[in-house]
Amino acid sequence: MRAVVIDGPGSVRVDTRPDPALTGPDGIIVAVGAAGICGSDLHFYDGEYPLAAPVALGHEAVGTVVETGPQVRTVAVGDQVMVSSVAGCGGCEGCATGDPARCRLGPQVFGSGALGGAQADLLAVPAADFQVLKVPDGITTEQALLLTDNLATGWAAARRADIPFGGTVAVIGLGAVGLCALRCAFLQGAATVFAADRVDGRLGRAAAWGATPVGSPAVEAVLAATGGRGADSVIDAVGTDASLTDALSAVRPGGTVSVVGVHDLQPFPLPALACLLRSITLRLTIAPVQRTWPELIALLQSGRLDVDGIFTTTLPLDEAAQGYAIAGSRSGDNVKVMLRP
Ligand SMILES: [Zn+2]
Ligand SMILES: [Zn+2]
Repeated sequence: MRAVVIDGPGSVRVDTRPDPALTGPDGIIVAVGAAGICGSDLHFYDGEYPLAAPVALGHEAVGTVVETGPQVRTVAVGDQVMVSSVAGCGGCEGCATGDPARCRLGPQVFGSGALGGAQADLLAVPAADFQVLKVPDGITTEQALLLTDNLATGWAAARRADIPFGGTVAVIGLGAVGLCALRCAFLQGAATVFAADRVDGRLGRAAAWGATPVGSPAVEAVLAATGGRGADSVIDAVGTDASLTDALSAVRPGGTVSVVGVHDLQPFPLPALACLLRSITLRLTIAPVQRTWPELIALLQSGRLDVDGIFTTTLPLDEAAQGYAIAGSRSGDNVKVMLRP
């Protein structure tokens, strides 16, 4: 089969690899129909994570079940399924909460080494009854792909930001996760959402969705717009030292900073005393993907939640290198790339 692999910074290619086998009696094989390129894939592309060997990339997949183990109950060959980007064992008390981060064995993410990459013809999925869901009626391929990661992450970012009804929220970083988060923030009761990014085109997208764009420097703009007080809740959808520092500076005393941006491997120098004196709540979250599905699917099906316009580019799998170049440009015109095997 074909699989997108990365050899080193900026070096993505389509490799030929053996077809994956079932991981066990609870596993399935999915023929991938569509896979997303995620901002966190770009950590490999930008050279922030060292690679001991080429890594098969991708953790956002929608596709057709082509093989099932004998213990699989919820899906069958031929079903269209979406695969959670974050995987758990499916059998422990942590996984029973629907949050793979609580898995006793620890969460795993497809396309980062141990599990295969989703940007491929085929993907082996362990504990399929926990990891996948048959794509529900009325859910588009784009929506299903966003449900595997970015929308679940944006939703969790807002849920964990303690947004007061009628409150002010600042979202730092307007990639796919940030744009999902700002929509979720409104749905969860925010009256005002400030949207910060360095790219004008992305500020325009946020404004079109009802957010208040703030230019650089974002902290000063948020403070000025809130009478010097700061936002009730700040969502960091970037995950750099700079964005974390901005988030902690832009939140009001007693407010909450909710981080879903994926940091590099270096420690962050937390200004603990300032945070204590300002009674800041700081939360860092990997999306409880499976647990968000009942809520998000109903909101999408009802039309109350709209995530159209987040995918801006669709390419065949063979053009993955171009897809990564487009995603890596982080431009206003290009937010998110879909690869079609
Ligand atoms: Zn991701
Ligand atoms: Zn588990």
